[in-house]
Amino acid sequence: MTVLDHKPETSFGNNVFERIESEVRSYSRGWPAVFESASGSWLRSEDGKDYLDFFAGAGALNYGHNNPVLKSALVDYIMSNGITHGLDMETVAKRNLLETFERVILKPRGLDYKVQFPGPTGANTVESALKLARKVTGRESIINFTNAFHGMTLGALSVTGNSMKRAGAGIPLVHATPMPFDNYFDGVTEDFQWFSRVLDDSGSGLNRPAAVIVETVQGEGGVNVARAEWLRALADLCADREILLIVDDVQMGCGRTGAFFSFEEAGIVPDIVTLSKSIGGYGLPLALTLFKRELDVWSPGEHNGTFRGNNPAFVTATAALEEYWTDDALERGTLRKGERIRQTFMNLADMFDGVSTRGRGLVQGLVFDDPSDAQKVCGLAFERGLLAETSGPSDEVVKLLPPLTISDDDLEFGLNILAEATAQVRA
Ligand SMILES: *Cc1c(COP(=O)(O)O)cnc(C)c1O
Repeated sequence: MTVLDHKPETSFGNNVFERIESEVRSYSRGWPAVFESASGSWLRSEDGKDYLDFFAGAGALNYGHNNPVLKSALVDYIMSNGITHGLDMETVAKRNLLETFERVILKPRGLDYKVQFPGPTGANTVESALKLARKVTGRESIINFTNAFHGMTLGALSVTGNSMKRAGAGIPLVHATPMPFDNYFDGVTEDFQWFSRVLDDSGSGLNRPAAVIVETVQGEGGVNVARAEWLRALADLCADREILLIVDDVQMGCGRTGAFFSFEEAGIVPDIVTLSKSIGGYGLPLALTLFKRELDVWSPGEHNGTFRGNNPAFVTATAALEEYWTDDALERGTLRKGERIRQTFMNLADMFDGVSTRGRGLVQGLVFDDPSDAQKVCGLAFERGLLAETSGPSDEVVKLLPPLTISDDDLEFGLNILAEATAQVRA
């Protein structure tokens, strides 16, 4: 018997994921299936079972899986030997994206933003936003909010709330001060006053911040929705005190709440905006950092990255803007379908004690007083062929993020599964 006769798969289990993939894996635990293909709002596992996707890559697949319009643009581009890896060189694909973004998104909204391509993930755009705010103001502290989520790199983690994820840093996370998000005190105290109060109190111990970073709807944090008037008051306070306002639109941008940017409804203009997840359109990695023209104080190469020129993602991003953002059909559909989910969730909240609901557009949460109920609902949903995830500090919220392009029939199908699962768990 030699070492080559040794069969590790029998000694360590015959599942390669369990055998050699790190324990850090997470979604695969709640959804124990091996997925093979996907189309629109559906995934198929290798054993031929279909799953309706109410998670959409955590909001990276707003236009669905393998969207045919984006796919054909991508395939044509690849077959014509279009540039795949382009550093930050000027390419035809990048020019098309910048021109389309300017024409379809920025100009009609009167936004005079410059566009930075950081590395292609959400954490990258958050890091570049924080760095830029510090460079512009010469200050180091950042205000973040309770239950915020901004990514896993050290800067992004320093402004993230979740204590388990923060602990993963292994070093102190400094230069960020959390303030209560809208309705943190359940409406008992006007949460917002706390921030303005400590800002103006020279005895408060708060260093003058460079910037405030905020999500208009906290997705990972439990579908906490900031009211438009709260966002306006925050924007006014920042403008008054010359603090930069960063809206992290990585998950809520690209139409998740209806409009392209989630802050449009509040009528505010952030100084800096982060986009990733669905901006590439096809699930390909891409991120943008947008900022007011006068904030562009970067030196060439000061925030660099090998994969800033993911040209295939430029192509699918451009195709998505042309297909979905030159009229308001997608936006109207999102609001209508969101309302449909809300009705179902309100009925469930009426029927069962300890269940409530909150959300905006096509990010809707079903909130359980007992977090284990939310887990059970997602578990039962999976058995019936529906992918839904929990979020919130105790994973007490069933969070729905279906593709914005989902059909009414599929939406209805999934909502029925969730209603039945909730009834079964609460029976
Ligand atoms: C997902 C997310 C991020 C981090 O994006 P990654 O691509 O995972 O680095 C940052 N901010 C928000 C609001 C997010 O939802």
